[in-house]
Amino acid sequence: MKILVINAGSSSLKYQLIDMATEKAVAKGGCERIGLEGSFLKHKANGKEVIIEKPMPNHQVAVQLVLDALVDKDYGAISSMKEIDAVGHRVVHSGEDFNCSVRITPEVLETIASNTELAPLHQPANITGINACRAIMPDTPMVAVFDTAFHSTMPDYAYMYGVPYEAYKNYKIRRYGFHGSSHLFVSDEAAKYLGKPKEELKIVTCHLGNGSSISAVDGGKCVDTSMGFTPLAGVPMGTRSGDIDPAIVEFLETKTGMTTAEVINYLNKKSGMAGISGVSSDFRDLAAAMEQGNDRARLALDMFAYATKKYVGAYAAAMGGIDCLVFTAGIGENDGYIREKVTDGLSFLGVEIDKAENKIRTGEIHDITAKGGRVKVLVIPTNEELVIARDTARLSK
Ligand code: AMP
Repeated sequence: MKILVINAGSSSLKYQLIDMATEKAVAKGGCERIGLEGSFLKHKANGKEVIIEKPMPNHQVAVQLVLDALVDKDYGAISSMKEIDAVGHRVVHSGEDFNCSVRITPEVLETIASNTELAPLHQPANITGINACRAIMPDTPMVAVFDTAFHSTMPDYAYMYGVPYEAYKNYKIRRYGFHGSSHLFVSDEAAKYLGKPKEELKIVTCHLGNGSSISAVDGGKCVDTSMGFTPLAGVPMGTRSGDIDPAIVEFLETKTGMTTAEVINYLNKKSGMAGISGVSSDFRDLAAAMEQGNDRARLALDMFAYATKKYVGAYAAAMGGIDCLVFTAGIGENDGYIREKVTDGLSFLGVEIDKAENKIRTGEIHDITAKGGRVKVLVIPTNEELVIARDTARLSK
């Protein structure tokens, strides 16, 4: 069985064709600059990588180019489109309407569209991607896999904000959480690696990438997560502020003359590591700048590690303990310095890492627990596409 996984953004479309027999991608790539000048498709399959520069006025043209690439005799991965058994779509927001992945029907699409105001930047792009695929492959089963779904098990006292209840009832204002497929994948992988049923484990998963979120996973279920109503909440990120006092928004408006929308953009695009350091949002650049004595780069990294450490402690408290701490995503998988700083001083919780092991990068599940450390500390490469493919395969049979 082969599943095409689609992650559509407003001007981009990433894809992987996954063979479920091996659970490996047989082709992957992405379209960039859809609807803009200079659009191109980068495609990898069959041991080859090609860049195809063609106009892509919309997502439907992009999807057609992806399908053409997949069946190409030279750099394709399949002989005909019929080999694609189903398509799995990454969809950002389920609202409170779905707590798991779902087969796409016209009614489901309508419900997804009804949650657009909860994710105004991402949801329309996701819907466009779904519609483009349905237009070209009307008979192929399609499944929506939501970024928020894994977090739907949070108890009410964890997802509610301290605002009047009517704001929740009338406007759906609550914590939703994001990166759900990643937190699900790495917590399941951790349980498998430890050879224990997930029902018996309390795991804190740290998805640390350009966007970062931390989750408390108790017995295989998410019980709390650091992102909130939007992905702006939680730890400071590449360009996002993370948690701030909400009164800062109006204060900034008054001081700078920015509109509310401009302040929100400032908090999403100009803040976090980039805004604090004045150097970059990329942790590799920050590490290099710090080594050269840049104190604001040092400050940004210290703030990130401190905020992440606080969530680890908070979630250990929320679950009444912790058996396993997982690091994943671009920073979590690659940045030993950040892992060391996050875990430093957590021996009171039983979290201790082997500093030599922590410096080694394997690209696979890597146990960096110190000898005698009570809490297993694991580096686990995430694979959100595989979660989408697995759910799509299950729901399209
Ligand atoms: P992601 O959003 O998961 O793709 O993560 C992207 C981020 O991971 C980049 O912006 C970098 O900050 C970080 N990253 C990637 N590779 C490395 C590395 N080798 N060392 C430190 N940080 C890295």
